[in-house]
Amino acid sequence: MEMDNKKKRQSMILYLIIAAAAVIALRTFLFPSIMNGQIQETSYSEFLGMVDKKEVKQVKLDTSTGDITFTTGSGMDSKEFHTTLWPNDDSLVKRLQDSGATFSAQIPSQSANMLLYLLINLLPLIMIFGGAWLLNRRLKKAMGEDGPSMNFGGGFGLGAGGLGRSGAKEVKGEETGITFSDVAGQDEAKESLEEIVSFLEHPEKYAAIGARCPRGALLVGPPGTGKTLLAKAVAGEAKVPFFSISGSEFVEMFVGRGAAKVRDLFKQAKEKAPCIIFIDEIDTVGKKRDAGLNTNDEREQTLNQLLAEMDGFDNHKGIVVLAATNRPDSLDAALLRPGRFDRRIPVELPDLTGREAILKLHAGDVKMEGGVDFAAVARQTPGASGADLANMINEAALRAVRMGRTRVTQTDIEESVDTVIAGEKKKSTVLSEHEKEVVAYHETGHAIVAAVQDGKAPVSKITIVPRTSGALGFTMQAEEDERYLTTREEYKQRIAVLCGGRAAEELIFGHMTSGAANDIEKATKIARAMVTQLGMSERFGMMALGESRNRYLGGGSELTCSEGTARDVDEEVKTLVEEGHSTALKTLRENRFKLHEIAHYLQKKETITGEEFMNILNRDDGFAPRYPQE
Ligand code: ADP
Ligand code: MG
Ligand code: ZN
Repeated sequence: MEMDNKKKRQSMILYLIIAAAAVIALRTFLFPSIMNGQIQETSYSEFLGMVDKKEVKQVKLDTSTGDITFTTGSGMDSKEFHTTLWPNDDSLVKRLQDSGATFSAQIPSQSANMLLYLLINLLPLIMIFGGAWLLNRRLKKAMGEDGPSMNFGGGFGLGAGGLGRSGAKEVKGEETGITFSDVAGQDEAKESLEEIVSFLEHPEKYAAIGARCPRGALLVGPPGTGKTLLAKAVAGEAKVPFFSISGSEFVEMFVGRGAAKVRDLFKQAKEKAPCIIFIDEIDTVGKKRDAGLNTNDEREQTLNQLLAEMDGFDNHKGIVVLAATNRPDSLDAALLRPGRFDRRIPVELPDLTGREAILKLHAGDVKMEGGVDFAAVARQTPGASGADLANMINEAALRAVRMGRTRVTQTDIEESVDTVIAGEKKKSTVLSEHEKEVVAYHETGHAIVAAVQDGKAPVSKITIVPRTSGALGFTMQAEEDERYLTTREEYKQRIAVLCGGRAAEELIFGHMTSGAANDIEKATKIARAMVTQLGMSERFGMMALGESRNRYLGGGSELTCSEGTARDVDEEVKTLVEEGHSTALKTLRENRFKLHEIAHYLQKKETITGEEFMNILNRDDGFAPRYPQE
């Protein structure tokens, strides 16, 4: 991304240089004054001298530029000269008349000349400012994409500060037309927002009784769970204008703009009250202010302005400020004080029924074949956000079109689930037969350890088709029902399942491959959480050893213990993962024949369903080893 922008910027500068060169060339050729050759440059006094000596035969004056071209002599001897008119020389006409020369002024072509003149003289200016403006815009765009951490101080060159931003960019209130019915599965959040809707609809009712309605509410949750959507829905339900701005927009390139924008936003909102002001990604501007060296004055100014505005408005008129963030713990405490964002509305990842509802809602936008089992899809997608699910439906519709169908089928959706979870199928990766065999054993290893240990999250699919995400295969487990508590045993089982891939490779081939890297990372993360956060280790018991960071962004925890303890934590984590690894090895050893059979079947078919898998696993073979080689 960055590379790309740099290139674009470079080519932009190149264009500017070429354009400037072209302008200079144009000037040179169009204006005879600088042209050498037949036309000779003279001074005005010489010209007057020649006029007085009656040498001058013909004079042409360009009134717009003051260029004088004149000829002396006649026939072969005639010579052409150029000079420039002395300003306001009233005596010239008389002198010319006395000399008997013919003289004329170029008035007819004046307008055209003027235009050309203007164009040629303004073009470089236009280009420089245009270029600067474009550059400015590009930089800003790049800044938006690369996150708000970049901050160009006020000193960025080209003098483009005032351009493209005459005052704060005006924010318009929009009628969103989105209602709560467009948001599925966030019933608690909707309930908390109902009150705000009712306040916006009848602010006078609240004023009459003397109730103080919340000025601000903070929507908190992981990305893609529908926070923006909910904010819009509040405005839509109450039929009030929606003023929205994103925190990353506040972190402006030019100092002082952020605060100005906040002022502008509230000013306009006050005129349109009742209304909603929505500040997306408020963490980018509302981060904790620290006394450290790297304080960002611009951000602080913006935040202070925001706080001042929130205290300042008269909320009997019906202005509610909603904000969204996925890193609530990084917010400045001043923002969360009473009278500001004192309501916190969690917008969590959807549960099983929520996922089904979201899928159905978005499926309403596309043509679906009857009888699609959304509940099954919901079961396969624990951890998916509303945005992921909406994306799945869209991917399914795209797939249906690719397949030349007019309706979306269950297969389309199942394929798109894989795509969204694991990435597109990758055709360019061609595994050798041996690699395929290794991957098949690896995935079967996961599946068998999962299936043998417990039936609560049965295997629903195993595939060894490489994905663009880099995965060479995956085993999908579908949860039967949503669970909110996880026992220590279950965590240990999860670690064992994650170790199952590597264990199968070791058991069958006696060597290790790089294919288990992701599994190892996940297993270690679970083990670390068990020790430091969940109080599930014998050694430390119920002692918090770390603080979780960015819960909604999947961030891990930060150790808060002494160095010596940290070393012990590592030991404990190692023990837990090793335990999982030996459980996996033991399970696979006991089911060695099934491992062979299923892995070979998988290698041949590339994708098998949970049902096929369970059929083979549960079939009673009477302990007879079976190798269905072909
Ligand atoms: P956030 O602001 O929490 O990151 P968005 O509100 O921008 O998430 O959601 C992105 C998109 O995902 C929405 O436009 C919508 O299509 C879909 N989506 C997310 N959550 C839901 C939901 N609960 N119900 C319906 N659609 C949702
Ligand atoms: Mg959003
Ligand atoms: Zn694996």
